[in-house]
Amino acid sequence: MTNEALIRTLKELKKRALLIIPTDPSEIELKKTDTKFGGAPYAETGDKCPVCAACGEKLTFVFQFRDNYDMDLKPSGPLHVFYYCFGCMPIETADEGQWLVKTYKNPESAKFVETSPNETMEIVPSGVTLKRDFVVPAFDFMCELNSEVYDLCAELSPDDPHTAYEEAAKAAGAIAPVCSSMGGYQAVVQALAAQDCPHCSKDMDFFVQIQSEEDINLMWGDLGVLYLFKCHADGSFGMEMQCY
Ligand SMILES: [Zn+2]
Ligand SMILES: [Zn+2]
Repeated sequence: MTNEALIRTLKELKKRALLIIPTDPSEIELKKTDTKFGGAPYAETGDKCPVCAACGEKLTFVFQFRDNYDMDLKPSGPLHVFYYCFGCMPIETADEGQWLVKTYKNPESAKFVETSPNETMEIVPSGVTLKRDFVVPAFDFMCELNSEVYDLCAELSPDDPHTAYEEAAKAAGAIAPVCSSMGGYQAVVQALAAQDCPHCSKDMDFFVQIQSEEDINLMWGDLGVLYLFKCHADGSFGMEMQCY
C-alpha cells in the first residue's frame, strides 16, 4: 500500500460526526434544555430523581442531549437525559436499572422542575461546544479494522505511526478524534461495542459516546469511554462502558 492508497482508503472510510466538547463552565449561562454535562438535569412536573435498581441509591445525572442537530448545529427532537450509578458502575447492559436514559418529547424551559440527583461523582456543570467534522477510526483500532492501513503507517513512520496516520487522515479531509461524539466511529478501548435491543432483539445503532473528561471530573474507571446505543425501531437505549 502506498501513501496515496492510504489517503484513498481513509477517504472511503471517513464519516460525518458531531463532536461534543465541554466548555469552560464559567463562560456560559446554561438553559434547562441545553446539551450539557452535570448540573441540574432536565425534569418535568411529577419527576423524581431515578434510583438505582441494584443498590437503591439515587442515580447521578451525567449528560443530556437532543436527538438531532442540523447542519447549523441547531438542536431538535426529543431531549435524552442520561443517568448512571457510579456506586455500581455497570459495564455492559441493554437493561436499564443501574443507568437510565429518560426521554422528553417536547422539552421546554418553562416546564422544568428541579430534582436532586446523587452527587457521588461531582461532575462540574458544563455546556458544550458542538462541531461537525469528518472522522476516521482511531489508529489503534485500525489493526483490527484494516491491518494494511495499520502496517503502512508503522512502515512510513516506525517511531511515530500515530502521527503518520493523523497526517494521512488530514490529507483525506478527516480527523481521528478523541473527544465525545454523536455518530462517527467508536473510540475503541477494548473491542467494538455492540448491543441488542432488549425489546425487539435487533442490533442497536451506535448513537453517542461519552469520553472521560478529567477537566469536569467525569471518569469512566481509568480514562474509559461510555457508549450509548439506540434502537431505530422503538427508540430504546443500550449502554456499554469500557475502561483500561
Ligand atoms: Zn447502584
Ligand atoms: Zn428495539
